[in-house]
Amino acid sequence: MRVAVVGAGVAGLAAALDLSQAGADVVVLEGSSRVGGKLLVGSVGDVEVDLGAEAMLARRPEGVDLARRVGLGEQLAHPETLTAAIWTRGALRPMPPTVLGVPSDLDALAESGIVAERPRAHAEPVPSHDVSVAEFLTPRVGREVVDRLVEPLLGGVYAGHADRLSLQAAAPQIAALGSDPLSGAARSRETPTATGPVFAGLVGGMGRLPEAIVSAGRFAVRTDAVVRAVERSGDGWAIHHGPTVDVTTEHVDAVVLATPAPATARLLGDVAPEAAFALAGVEYASMAVITLLLDGPVDADVSGFLVPPVDGTAIKGATFSSRKWGWLAERVGGSAGEGRSVVRASIGRAGETGMLLGPDADLVEAATTDLRAALGTLPPVLESHVQRWGGALPQYDVGHRDLVERVHLAVTEVPGLEVCGAAYEGVGIPAVIASAQAAARRVLAGSDLG
Ligand SMILES: Cc1cc2nc3c(=O)[nH]c(=O)nc-3n(C[C@H](O)[C@H](O)[C@H](O)COP(=O)(O)OP(=O)(O)OC[C@H]3O[C@@H](n4cnc5c(N)ncnc54)[C@H](O)[C@@H]3O)c2cc1C
Repeated sequence: MRVAVVGAGVAGLAAALDLSQAGADVVVLEGSSRVGGKLLVGSVGDVEVDLGAEAMLARRPEGVDLARRVGLGEQLAHPETLTAAIWTRGALRPMPPTVLGVPSDLDALAESGIVAERPRAHAEPVPSHDVSVAEFLTPRVGREVVDRLVEPLLGGVYAGHADRLSLQAAAPQIAALGSDPLSGAARSRETPTATGPVFAGLVGGMGRLPEAIVSAGRFAVRTDAVVRAVERSGDGWAIHHGPTVDVTTEHVDAVVLATPAPATARLLGDVAPEAAFALAGVEYASMAVITLLLDGPVDADVSGFLVPPVDGTAIKGATFSSRKWGWLAERVGGSAGEGRSVVRASIGRAGETGMLLGPDADLVEAATTDLRAALGTLPPVLESHVQRWGGALPQYDVGHRDLVERVHLAVTEVPGLEVCGAAYEGVGIPAVIASAQAAARRVLAGSDLG
């Protein structure tokens, strides 16, 4: 069986690996000049660091398992510290334990000074339909907790807003806390959780994963191959790709679209119009990652901080990368921490593109100004790098789960067609890999390889 996978982000590559290992003849068609999508390693001065995603949840198996499968098991690394802070009310304040922003220890919250008033537990029946995270939480935990704890965390994961993001799709762990989320969160602290590290990265950067998948797999990859149309052709598919003046056509038995929702919507227009219509409604947040190489250590004993949007800062968070990753600390300045350091700040939430339209120098200036204000002092900037991510993260708005179900139903009706990636059942790397592996399984099940 011949399969075309469109898009060489981690979803497309994970699907290609499984399909090829099951015996399919796979070609991956990638529109840009490189593989990896949102996973990218690049240079800031003489230091190679992640300019896109930099960690993955290790409590789910898919990411670390895939890294091991492609020979990177020895390169798995875990953060040196997980202590994070919230920059608010004029100081970096230790983040109390929370369930995606819902505090589970109200004494620790009070001590942190993040909120002015101690929230009071309040129960209200859980709606049977989907609502926004803010609509669910505000009457139960108070707006201050939503603004100063939940919003920054949702900003970090989705670059989104509590007033828009779906409780069921974007914050199922909050929905699981039940009618009285504060009591539910407090109870969750008493329940023993899985042991072992929460997050993992790779020595040299998460951005090394895509090339490792390509090296381990037995599939072809064509870059600079923008797929312009997919159409039924006999029992299979004709995939048209390349420059408009020189279109190449691949004939395959099945096609997996591992592209972001807007591209998938365009490609599905004729073959699965209902799915195309639904996907065209998925909005994306754009953002920029500003990485700074500093001439000295950062004066903070946390791995980074998040900022509540109500505070009106330019950056929505920062990671003290060389404090977080031991391998990076060694590369930039020795483990004693007396040398250089790497900090990355991010700018951009859904619907807020204003700042992102400015030149790189303005973004660097905004990031350094905020970092100096948060830390009190900042070592001199030796090098800086701005990585813009247009269409970075899909927004799981209210009703997203139904939307995804409609898409899968419509796609299932078309033989030899599958979709996967961050637009569906989770934006984190393990969830994206899981969606790709499920798509590959469905393709194989419908073939003589299944
Ligand atoms: C800045 C940033 C930081 C992040 N940090 C983390 C993190 O630390 N941990 C975590 O778990 N997740 C993180 N995420 C989320 C995670 O990285 C992404 O959700 C995930 O990598 C998306 O993978 P994907 O394969 O679905 O899509 P993408 O990576 O977007 O890949 C899609 C590919 O399709 C290609 N394409 C598009 N249209 C076409 C076409 N017509 N023809 C051919 N090719 C096409 C694109 O060029 C791209 O290469 C982060 C995301 C961003 C933007």
